[in-house]
Amino acid sequence: MLWSGWGDPARARELPEPVRALLRDLLGVRAPERPPVPLEEVRLAPVTLPAHLLEALGGVVGAPHVRTSHEARVRHTRGKSTPDLLLMRAGDGLDAPDAVVLPGSHEEVAELLALCSRERIAVVPFGGGTSVVGGLVAERAGFAGVVALDLGRMDRLLSVDAESMLAEFQPGARAPEAERLLAAHGLTLGHFPQSYEYATLGGFAAARSSGQASAGYGRFDDMVAGMTVATPAGPLELGRAPKSAAGPDLRQLVLGSEGAFGVITSLRLRVRRAPAEKAYEGWRFASFREGTAALRALAQEGPLPTVLRLSDETETMVGLARPDAIGGGGGADGGCLVIAGYEGASVAATRAGAARVLTRLGGEPLGEEPGRAWEHGRFSAPYLRDSLLAAGATVETLETAGFWSGLPRLYDAVRLALHGSLGSPLVMCHVSHVYETGACLYFTVVTAQHGDPVAQWARAKEAATAAVVEAGGTVSHHHGVGRDHREAYAAELGPVGVAILRAVKERVDPAGVLNPGVLIP
Ligand SMILES: Cc1cc2nc3c(=O)[nH]c(=O)nc-3n(C[C@H](O)[C@H](O)[C@H](O)COP(=O)(O)OP(=O)(O)OC[C@H]3O[C@@H](n4cnc5c(N)ncnc54)[C@H](O)[C@@H]3O)c2cc1C
Repeated sequence: MLWSGWGDPARARELPEPVRALLRDLLGVRAPERPPVPLEEVRLAPVTLPAHLLEALGGVVGAPHVRTSHEARVRHTRGKSTPDLLLMRAGDGLDAPDAVVLPGSHEEVAELLALCSRERIAVVPFGGGTSVVGGLVAERAGFAGVVALDLGRMDRLLSVDAESMLAEFQPGARAPEAERLLAAHGLTLGHFPQSYEYATLGGFAAARSSGQASAGYGRFDDMVAGMTVATPAGPLELGRAPKSAAGPDLRQLVLGSEGAFGVITSLRLRVRRAPAEKAYEGWRFASFREGTAALRALAQEGPLPTVLRLSDETETMVGLARPDAIGGGGGADGGCLVIAGYEGASVAATRAGAARVLTRLGGEPLGEEPGRAWEHGRFSAPYLRDSLLAAGATVETLETAGFWSGLPRLYDAVRLALHGSLGSPLVMCHVSHVYETGACLYFTVVTAQHGDPVAQWARAKEAATAAVVEAGGTVSHHHGVGRDHREAYAAELGPVGVAILRAVKERVDPAGVLNPGVLIP
């Protein structure tokens, strides 16, 4: 993973000339004055953790599993939001942990939490490090130091219960490895977020992730049948039956808790049979409004494809749904592009049924080519972001969800806020996840950098978040809360909700060492 960008550096993307022209002529983007600093020149926070505590941490996990090198600290600084990358490119590593600690078992995690609580060391659980909401930055004030608790050594498939269709994993397994291990059993999770290549199963649960095939396989929180969690107050074992009426479901308290209540040390996940067949195709709608109505019909009446996304007019024009062919036209020749994907044993029947609904509601079939292009480029967009940043543009995403009846207002409000804050940005949107009652709107914004790009984006994000709250959407459908959405989350919860969160935090983490500053308002 590139420390100041995304992914495998060998897969870096050159921007095609049409995109360069669009940046230059439409957005006024100019090449940045300074190139990114090299890794060794990143300025890190001074280490405050005393040597005897570093030794004590080594006493729990073994000295080789406590890393304090410049590179290890840089690589565990913040996550992968655009502001995170801009700060790293500018050489600002001031949120770096003092050390990176790699436990090998639940028992070691529990022992580390006891030690850190005793010695007031802040602990940041670290999965793939792909948080885009500031979920990996701990408040230092009042703590002896900060450690990143990297779960990378805990990456095994522990068991498969093929009869119940369950697989138990350690939390540090990255998604591609988890899929590879399940494929040997003819199984799949079906969780394919755009961060698939690097994110971990524990991170998916801790941040309530949602993948591109959520219409068919569900959100990640739907997949979690059970969990083991290490907390400073002791272990939590959750989920002993497929469904239960034994009081509130405490799994829901851990899902989305972003390391603030405990460290997930194993997960029992619902799995599916690996699909016998897959087919992806494109459809064109004359407008976003008509396309949205068609997606709603599929979500409410069925049949529901496995993958379903609708780009608005701007996103279709730019061709963002197919990043490998970006700039070459969206493939929908005006209007709005729908990508529909079908996976499983009854692809032909579901596809024919969905085609009837899409046609009835004004859709024009575009065949499999746009679907294939989407599938080929489905994990490429983050590489494109690196190239855009290098060219001097700021590109960032934000997402929300709302009920169908409120979706047009939400869409308009966010766009208006972004235009109001940034002048003339390029604002693209797609419906990325659908439900019977509503959908997720996922915005991608490209703008020229003016002055301090981090502050410029912070203002735009603040305006967009205020618009989301005002228009009745949720502050996050799948990225989570982190530090960035903490205040808006408090507004969404209300004072009683905030008091409940704080009470749980005080009970399970009395010293407040777990991810201080994240999630809890
Ligand atoms: C380019 C890009 C594309 C993305 N696309 C998507 C997408 O399509 N869908 C989506 O849902 N998200 C997406 N994300 C966001 C991100 O990938 C998800 O939030 C993901 O769930 C984070 O997983 P991770 O393993 O990287 O966790 P991290 O970033 O390491 O951690 C996320 C949070 O969870 C906590 N945490 C991590 N592991 C544990 C654990 N075992 N126990 C307790 N707490 C833990 C961390 O402290 C942190 O607060 C994207 C991010 C990027 C950069």
